[in-house]
Amino acid sequence: MSFDEVARWLRESRSNVALTGAGVSTESGIPDFRGPNGIWTRDPTSERLSNIGYYIANPEIRRESWRRRLDHPAWGATPNAAHRALAALEAAGRLELLVTQNIDGLHLAAGSSAERLVEIHGTIRDTACLGCGDRRPMRETLARVRAGEEDPPCERCGGILKSATVSFGQNLDSELLARAEEAAASAGLFLAVGTSLTVHPVARLPEIALDAGARLVILNAEPTPLDGLAHAVLRGEAGAMLTELVAAATAE
Ligand code: NAD
Repeated sequence: MSFDEVARWLRESRSNVALTGAGVSTESGIPDFRGPNGIWTRDPTSERLSNIGYYIANPEIRRESWRRRLDHPAWGATPNAAHRALAALEAAGRLELLVTQNIDGLHLAAGSSAERLVEIHGTIRDTACLGCGDRRPMRETLARVRAGEEDPPCERCGGILKSATVSFGQNLDSELLARAEEAAASAGLFLAVGTSLTVHPVARLPEIALDAGARLVILNAEPTPLDGLAHAVLRGEAGAMLTELVAAATAE
């Protein structure tokens, strides 16, 4: 399948929907989980930090999580060419919805509009209380951690605080999931970028699109379980490839 043909599909489809994963942010210096330099690839025990059961049961996991949030690479990161290309695709009127599994806020920083973006696994830029749901800017809670609170409780109800992200074992926001599924079901083309397509229920979205008759394009550095179903598989770095693809798809 030629690159130019994929660009033509993007130009001509009635509705383009994109799904991004941690691989679109590695070029901004934020490691993914499962890639060759992924956090879990290098240290499989860190998988525990992303599991809600361990987080609730174990104060040491929470303290470790707060230490990592203080130093999270997202705070110093800026959008890269992949984020900018998707913002340009939207600006050209060629992107119906961008669903991201990323929690780093870089699509918004690159200029993607909040109206056409679903951060389906939440955001690290806020905290949420696991008890009462109270939500606040992350920077307020990080200031408490810096001041010495190793596992700061909710200021409203005393409950356990966490970043406003979806850990393994936590449910997704049902409205956001429904919006993503509806967009997938009415897409003419579904583009998955920088994701291993292994985290459910998000990994179902490309199949929902396929079942409804969409073309599926996968752009990823490594193989994914859905490559065999895709109409085109583009193997390489998201920044360079998306820049070229969007330029070709939006050229007059
Ligand atoms: P993943 O780690 O499972 O897979 C990332 C994929 O991207 C890998 O297959 C890797 O080969 C590929 N990749 C890495 N760099 C790439 C590049 N420059 N160009 C193209 N492909 C590249 O990530 P996932 O599928 O998103 O699932 C992991 C979960 O972890 C998600 O739920 C996400 O919320 C979370 N996460 C988010 C961030 C972030 O917000 N930046 C970072 C790590 C993990």
